[in-house]
Amino acid sequence: MNRVKNFNAGPAALPLPALERARDEFLDFAGSGMSVMEHSHRGKEYEACHDEAIALLRELLGVPATHEVLFVQGGASQLFAQIPMNLVQRGQTAEYVLTGAWGEKALAEARAATAMLGGAVRVACSTGTGDGKEKSYVRAPAAGEVKVSPDAAYLHVTSNETIHGVEFDVTPARPYPATGSVPLVADMSSDFLWKKVDVSRFGLIYAGAQKNIGPSGVVVVVVSKALLEAGRKDLPKIFQLRTPAENKSLYNTPPTFGIYMIRNVLAWLKGLGGLEAMEARNRRKAAVLYGAIDANPGYYRCPVERESRSVMNVVFRLPSEADEERFVKEARARGMVGLKGHRSVGGIRVSAYNAVEPAWLDELAVFMGEFARKG
Ligand code: PMP
Repeated sequence: MNRVKNFNAGPAALPLPALERARDEFLDFAGSGMSVMEHSHRGKEYEACHDEAIALLRELLGVPATHEVLFVQGGASQLFAQIPMNLVQRGQTAEYVLTGAWGEKALAEARAATAMLGGAVRVACSTGTGDGKEKSYVRAPAAGEVKVSPDAAYLHVTSNETIHGVEFDVTPARPYPATGSVPLVADMSSDFLWKKVDVSRFGLIYAGAQKNIGPSGVVVVVVSKALLEAGRKDLPKIFQLRTPAENKSLYNTPPTFGIYMIRNVLAWLKGLGGLEAMEARNRRKAAVLYGAIDANPGYYRCPVERESRSVMNVVFRLPSEADEERFVKEARARGMVGLKGHRSVGGIRVSAYNAVEPAWLDELAVFMGEFARKG
């Protein structure tokens, strides 16, 4: 077996023990004589696994009793529309902070959803500069920079911009915005569960599973019960977030295999020491990588300001696109894959999610040093 060092942005590397467990249980899940994919979502073996996934999530993240944990489908992109559909009442405005391309996408979907349902959207703060192809995002807002209206339905942030490598709350200088009584909504698709966050500060957190917690096809939503109760009731049931909340995310057939894999990944995470251990491990990984960039300032350049540098997605440029192409090719020859930057921005992107082993970063850093010296 020749597994690569996988730096893909998502779907991304999964912990080997979680995959091995799935392999071992593939044909006979929990002694049921069938695979989890063949098992009824109402059967007791599946339900125990489903419950365990929710319980592990609550325990690892420290989810308070005020909040529900939901599994929904449609990808984080569906939540871009579903959140404003649920949370913006007629005549209300939802506010958005833009720190990259995913925030822009979330805003565009919210604009369409609220126009249809009698609400509106507003950009509370954007750190973007330039236009069109030249548009760039290199930072999260400073403390106090985001001014939220007291009557906003919510304030939406993209906790980590996967393409631009800009992340909130990595340093105390770039905290999540203070919102007073306005609910804070965060897209944590690419930085969910790499460190502890104070869930009570958020009205709603959502994350597509395919970066840090499992395969694609499941979105984890952590949402306050108060917001669920206040949510709109004039939507089809299937789009109301209270529907999964009232049915333990078993209203209709959930993506059972995906939830099973999330259980395996969370059990691995707990075994490793939970989120404190994971944060220390991830901060070390990022330090190795940014260290390799900063050690060769004439060769590598990270466009993101220091205070906002993402721990999960590290982006940087080489002197030319031809050098970047060679870099990707030579790294691949050494078993390191997934290093090409997003097609919209180019450059190199190293995604160093939870399952990416520290030793892979050490090896990549050595390679970066050699590559820069060779020129
Ligand atoms: N938000 C962020 C921050 C993302 O990185 C992505 C996917 N890369 C999405 C949303 C969209 O996720 P999905 O493909 O699950 O709709």
